[in-house]
Amino acid sequence: MYDLIIIGAGASGMISAITAQRQGQRVLLIEKMSQAGRKLRITGKGRCNLTNTLPLKDFLKHCGSEPRFLYPSFNTFFSKDLVKFFEDLGVKTVEERGGRIFPESGKAQDVFLAMINELEDSDCRILKNTEVTSLIIEEGRVVGVKTKGNKDQIFKAPKIILAAGGESYPLTGSQGDGISLAKQVGHNIIPTIPCLVGLKLKYYNAERIHPCIIGFGVRNVNATLSLESGKKIAEEFGELTFREEGIEGPIILTLSRKVGRLLYNGEKVFLNIDFKPAIAEKELDAKLLRELDTRGKEDIRTLLRAFLPHELIYLLLDMTSFDPRKKSSFVSSQERKEILNFLKSCQFEIIGDFGYEQAIVTQGGVDLKEINPKTLESKLIPGLFFAGEVMDLDADTGGFNLQIAFSTGVLAAQDATKEEPQE
Ligand SMILES: Cc1cc2nc3c(=O)[nH]c(=O)nc-3n(C[C@H](O)[C@H](O)[C@H](O)COP(=O)(O)OP(=O)(O)OC[C@H]3O[C@@H](n4cnc5c(N)ncnc54)[C@H](O)[C@@H]3O)c2cc1C
Repeated sequence: MYDLIIIGAGASGMISAITAQRQGQRVLLIEKMSQAGRKLRITGKGRCNLTNTLPLKDFLKHCGSEPRFLYPSFNTFFSKDLVKFFEDLGVKTVEERGGRIFPESGKAQDVFLAMINELEDSDCRILKNTEVTSLIIEEGRVVGVKTKGNKDQIFKAPKIILAAGGESYPLTGSQGDGISLAKQVGHNIIPTIPCLVGLKLKYYNAERIHPCIIGFGVRNVNATLSLESGKKIAEEFGELTFREEGIEGPIILTLSRKVGRLLYNGEKVFLNIDFKPAIAEKELDAKLLRELDTRGKEDIRTLLRAFLPHELIYLLLDMTSFDPRKKSSFVSSQERKEILNFLKSCQFEIIGDFGYEQAIVTQGGVDLKEINPKTLESKLIPGLFFAGEVMDLDADTGGFNLQIAFSTGVLAAQDATKEEPQE
């Protein structure tokens, strides 16, 4: 008999296990993969962006659809606590641009090792290669779990923390099991969609994007999301990269948080790129006119080099009806408008995303309305607690998602271990 069973040895499950075992609880941590923390070890491109130094109010602006839900978790264990937690385990941290905190060694592996070493040196039992297939409910309470692994087994405990993650990067073990387990016992699920992910675009006048532009990155652009009505819904400034079927890069990942749900609901969503955000349209038009007047003998492709890198000229030519060999003096005012439109508002329809295989997080999950934010206990099933991405919580890139996993992991464990264990 255990005091507490934790399902999933990811970021949230491991910190829950550490918190509970430090309080002298008999903990069983169950992981379906052959190794714990597979996702944690690849976070931040192998560097692990642990958290962010933004103050609570600003931090919350980057989190979830219902940031108030996170107040009790962050009040219990926030970024400073996280930094101290890891420094106590011997992992020094450094702050980088945008308040992002990384381990000083630059290795996500060190973050993982610090946690797993503490657990392996403790009385916590870690059962790997073991998949929880259902929760056992008796008289309305959760009392244990059924597993399949080398053999089918039943484990009993009065408290269970479901920390089995979302659906993104399924090869790490996060395959939506936690969401299904919650659904099996009657929890409402907010439909899940890939989030912080590249977006598929419909390329005009071309079956596929010109090969020259695949992998090409553009900095200092302004990207705006809009609906069919023209209503602007989000805007980001920064860097993006063209891919064969779409687009990715830091600002696209951030914008993707606003796109998925709209597409899921059948809305048409458009991406508008301003390649020249530092110059007003009128000014740019005047410059274009001047160039066309003074360089009339050059072909349009050569002239455009004054405005764009050659990769983007291929895109412009693909998206318009221009003959690239046309002499600049023959460019009509309509064609000049087309060029200007490309430079200031290059529009693509967004037709999907790159899927869970490439999504950093999952949007949707266990409905927060059915979870007590102060304890993270289910309002439907006493004894069942939630931690991490299995809940309908997602955030921007910048260390926010791991902080959510760690904070909810600590709060769930503190509350799950509050009462005397029931034998
Ligand atoms: C490539 C990548 C890079 C990222 N980089 C960052 C970053 O730098 N900073 C940041 O803040 N966030 C980052 N994230 C997001 C962050 O990793 C997640 O939000 C976080 O790991 C969620 O933690 P979790 O414990 O809820 O779930 P997970 O870490 O997904 O862990 C869930 C665990 O449960 C196990 N499991 C699932 N089902 C079962 C079952 N039935 N039985 C037993 N075990 C089960 C899984 O195998 C897994 O080990 C990144 C994500 C990805 C994919």
